[in-house]
Amino acid sequence: MARTHGLNGTPVLVAGAGLAGLAAARSLEARGAAVTIVDARDRVGGRVWTVRDGFAARQHAEAGADLIEEDQDHVRTLARDLGLRPVRILRRGFGYYGPDARGRRRVHGRPAAFASLAARLHREIEEFTLAEERWDGAVAARLARRSVGEWLDEVDAPTALRAAVRAFRGFFLADPEDLSILPVVEQFACGGMPGRSAMLRIPGGNDRLATLAAARLHAPVRLMTIVRRLTQDASGVRAIVESDGRTAEIRASFAVSALPASTARDVIFDPPLPDAQHDAIATLPYGRATRLLVQFDRRFWRGRARPIAYATDLDIGAIWDGNEQQRGRAGILSFLAGGRASAGLQALMRGGGSDAVARQLAWLGTPPRVLTSRVIVWDDDPWVRGGYAYFGPAFDPLGRAWLARPAGRIVFAGEHTSVRWQGYMNGAVESGLRAAAEVAALAGSAG
Ligand SMILES: Cc1cc2nc3c(=O)[nH]c(=O)nc-3n(C[C@H](O)[C@H](O)[C@H](O)COP(=O)(O)OP(=O)(O)OC[C@H]3O[C@@H](n4cnc5c(N)ncnc54)[C@H](O)[C@@H]3O)c2cc1C
Repeated sequence: MARTHGLNGTPVLVAGAGLAGLAAARSLEARGAAVTIVDARDRVGGRVWTVRDGFAARQHAEAGADLIEEDQDHVRTLARDLGLRPVRILRRGFGYYGPDARGRRRVHGRPAAFASLAARLHREIEEFTLAEERWDGAVAARLARRSVGEWLDEVDAPTALRAAVRAFRGFFLADPEDLSILPVVEQFACGGMPGRSAMLRIPGGNDRLATLAAARLHAPVRLMTIVRRLTQDASGVRAIVESDGRTAEIRASFAVSALPASTARDVIFDPPLPDAQHDAIATLPYGRATRLLVQFDRRFWRGRARPIAYATDLDIGAIWDGNEQQRGRAGILSFLAGGRASAGLQALMRGGGSDAVARQLAWLGTPPRVLTSRVIVWDDDPWVRGGYAYFGPAFDPLGRAWLARPAGRIVFAGEHTSVRWQGYMNGAVESGLRAAAEVAALAGSAG
């Protein structure tokens, strides 16, 4: 990364060592800042976490973020700068398992709902495009209040379409009843549903993005350090952090909060954030998400000329080959149960374990022996309390801009603050770079 010394030793605190915080720290250091970066966990990476323990044949798979899309430039540039080369995966894209128009459950080559949904939402997409995709206008305000479930009722959607739309919870992490129609319309207005461009993964584990980025910082990340309070005045920022049950103070000229809104809402900001910003952070919902990784002794889902990734409307969620880039006869099937499916998959696992889950896969082939499995319930993770942010009908769309707005000497980063790439690693990295640029701008105006 090219070094410019615009911040010339300015002390900056970065709270959170997920991809947003790490990207911010790298960029701040490249600008000459003296960065202190802290994280509550005992590891860096946050929601980017590769599980390596317990699988046979030294295989691994992703507990959190898995798929990188070809047009996601910020995360790809980070990978390149770290000497990582993402490999192409899931070449046949996603299929769909669910009912057809006659109510028969079957495998569909492509997610069935996209074209039909885009056609039915034609007017809404056109109006939102005319409104230049703004979230602060009357068009967005009207769309925001309606849930996808209500909209499906209004248009008298057939059962097959309802099931296919429910399968989107593997992407939005929210069921139609809980999700606003606004982000769905936005998704189409901005170029369509995901999975259209090539998908990639980092060989050796996506968390290498985080561990390598952290290793190259001048200062090591201070782990198991919880930010409790951020106080600021005209001269700088003071953070109260807790580590090992003891509190300490960190002083800096500026701070980057790269925490999820779901935990930033517990941090005391002194003076308090403006009401609208406080409310946006306090009310942003996080989608429920459970990841299940099942290692089978054979990749029974592979067949000629068919996808190895499927959305489903079942409680097992969306499924795909979780380590296609690794050699060996065994293979890991990755399940992402979002929204209400998160509790459904957990119940299934409690009831009958991975064998009960395997019994739900007859449509995919005959599951062989399960070697091992691992469940990661993101809803129970104290440092995120969900998968990623989603926009529900109760969230005021005016709040979206407030999520990313600087407050004095504190700037905000994180997946949830990204406009174009919310919910992605790419959005986290982009937001960190933006936050670093904001600190430089604030320092420039202060100086
Ligand atoms: C199950 C799942 C599947 C996903 N799939 C994909 C995918 O396929 N592709 C994709 O691009 N993205 C995916 N994502 C989203 C992606 O993981 C996130 O968008 C991204 O990693 C968020 O990065 P972040 O830095 O904003 O937040 P985080 O990674 O959450 O980092 C925030 C950090 O702040 C720390 N923290 C929180 N509170 C405090 C506190 N009070 N004090 C100190 N530290 C604190 C946390 O420990 C954490 O390390 C997925 C996420 C999940 C959960």
